[in-house]
Amino acid sequence: MPQSRDGGAWSVIEVPIAIINGGKGPAVLFTGGVHGDEYESQIAISRIARQIDPQSVRGKIIMLPAVDLPAAVAGRRMCPIDGRDFNRCMPGDARGSFCQMLAHYIETTIMPQVEVSVDIHSAGNSMEAALCSIMHWVDDAKVIERTHVLAEHFAAPYNVMFWGVDETATVSASAERHGALSISTEIGGYGRVRPDAVRIAERGISNVLKWMKIVDGKPDISQPNGGRTKQMQVRDQRSYLFAPSDGLFEPLFLPEQEIRAGDLAGNLHFIEEWAREPQPIEFQIDGYIWMAPGSGRVKKGDVMAVIMQDYDGH
Ligand SMILES: [Zn+2]
Repeated sequence: MPQSRDGGAWSVIEVPIAIINGGKGPAVLFTGGVHGDEYESQIAISRIARQIDPQSVRGKIIMLPAVDLPAAVAGRRMCPIDGRDFNRCMPGDARGSFCQMLAHYIETTIMPQVEVSVDIHSAGNSMEAALCSIMHWVDDAKVIERTHVLAEHFAAPYNVMFWGVDETATVSASAERHGALSISTEIGGYGRVRPDAVRIAERGISNVLKWMKIVDGKPDISQPNGGRTKQMQVRDQRSYLFAPSDGLFEPLFLPEQEIRAGDLAGNLHFIEEWAREPQPIEFQIDGYIWMAPGSGRVKKGDVMAVIMQDYDGH
């Protein structure tokens, strides 16, 4: 990407990309490091890229282990060059900021080539997620069915069909615009590398390659409990618990925990006024914890929890 700066008039930033083109066959895109404080994808995608024998590939595999490279190197969610969240920049702008130009390249040059897009995230510094793949609510029942099958073959413990706060400018939305099957993931979070999440990402990538018959082999979609990927949903904003004011949030739950409407979710403390009682925060619906907060301090409007429920088929 062009990156003109003081002392580097014609400089570029080289965003890492690995392409294995094995001729005839389907094409798949794996993206990681769209958020720089999400590390499992960066490790898993670059490891798979090093390990694949190009002679074994039928079709095309495009791998970007660290899409927002400046953010990945800085270990930050937001790009340090232009201050943007890359996953809010699609479809981008060829004459825009660093993230907007990069988004434009992915939207116009890469997305039109692929039938399947797997964008691997974890929940970054601010949250921790139940280990899951995720997909959008889409209008087409056939697309939902095929995406469920893709998610079952990625084989994270959960697959969450979700309503998001700001989802039209994401990599997933870009893939959908181009008619590609699209899943993303939320594996881990709290700003660290979760070992089991790295394994889930690596197995998921390998499984998708086998499922698409780009490489030989049978996908391993087994789960530790003997079942399959659990299909879940987050239907609307009632699943989200937003902070009613600034404060220090004391959660009383962990990811995957079952909860009921009316249960105490936690206490919002006002440390500046030691004698003031904390504000109790209650869950509004039944379900299981999908996203838990990671940061302690919250600002009014920050997400303190997101609840997932069993997928009900419509
Ligand atoms: Zn992310």
